[in-house]
Amino acid sequence: MACKEILTTGLRCWWPKRTVLCSFVYAKHSQNPIFQQIYKSEAGRHAELQMLKDRAFLSNFKDKNAVDIILVMNYSPCYFCAGELNYFYKKYRTAYSINSFNIRFSQLYKTYGSPPKEVKEKT
Ligand SMILES: [Zn+2]
Repeated sequence: MACKEILTTGLRCWWPKRTVLCSFVYAKHSQNPIFQQIYKSEAGRHAELQMLKDRAFLSNFKDKNAVDIILVMNYSPCYFCAGELNYFYKKYRTAYSINSFNIRFSQLYKTYGSPPKEVKEKT
């Protein structure tokens, strides 16, 4: 799913009943993400696990260049996903040179206008 159907924060909106996870990977000291993707829980498949199994996500860590990972989610990870995210970070922080791995929480809703500048697709 492309980030054209982007999510952003707001106050008066409906709260999705499923987890929505926006994943951003930045090269160290870069303003623009080298990877951005939205994952949604569906049919019992947790958004976090979809991301951790996504080859496009994992392909960002093949070289040894340091990266920063930011996840923006509308729900806290469940017990199992929290363990998987922790395992990913502990196992790969050195091998993949993960500089930082942050999880942020936000109320998310779908927008139909232009996405904020920081989440626009690469052209
Ligand atoms: Zn989960």
